[in-house]
Amino acid sequence: MRKTLVAANWKMNGSREFAGQFFRDLDLNGVDCDVAFCPPFPYLPIVADLLQEAGRPSVSLGAQNVSEREAGAFTGEVSAAMLKDFGVRYVIVGHSERRSLFGETSELVAQKYVAAKEAGLVPILCVGETLEEREASRALEVIGSQLDAVAELAVDDCWKGAVVAYEPVWAIGTGKTATPEQAQAVHEFIRGRLGAAGEEMQIVYGGSVKSANAASLFAQPDIDGALVGGASLDAAEFAGICRAG
Ligand code: 13P
Repeated sequence: MRKTLVAANWKMNGSREFAGQFFRDLDLNGVDCDVAFCPPFPYLPIVADLLQEAGRPSVSLGAQNVSEREAGAFTGEVSAAMLKDFGVRYVIVGHSERRSLFGETSELVAQKYVAAKEAGLVPILCVGETLEEREASRALEVIGSQLDAVAELAVDDCWKGAVVAYEPVWAIGTGKTATPEQAQAVHEFIRGRLGAAGEEMQIVYGGSVKSANAASLFAQPDIDGALVGGASLDAAEFAGICRAG
């Protein structure tokens, strides 16, 4: 039985003050799914401390990006080993905002995925199609090739110890959620593509998840949780999503 994972992707939002208030407001009583917070890099140790103070040491930390390089003269980059050093467990790779706004190719995403795994982090690999690709009936082809790029580079036990997030680009920050049936169809396709490891892997959905739609998404057999953007900035909303898990 796969456990539900609800991960907060704060994107480039927040401040020291915001984080403090958020964890004072956050009530995770009654939640028994895996929970993770992915704040911007400078807030990782602050969120770690706030989780300790709130008596939630079992809630995990995640980063939103990682360098594919190990160390050296790469100004502005943050390595997987550095994240590990700060107690980070998860790292998001291949978010559609990084692919579309920062030019990350599937090959680069695969290198980041490998770097994360080699450092002992759990990559949350984001895949998903644009509206144009969906309307041209190319969603599965696009997602398949995003997965293949990782499988080609990572080879042995490629999927073990990783999470996949299906985030249809047209559902991110738009208020348009994929219907549970639409999302389930893609999750089933993804699981089939992951081979033997797929049965145990958490495949989470992302794109306008809120407390009001989380339960119907999580009720689908292949939806194992959510990667939450906007709603993760509201402590009560986020706790509501976690409770649905
Ligand atoms: P929203 O929940 O704001 O649609 O964002 C989803 C997302 O991109 C999570 O990574």
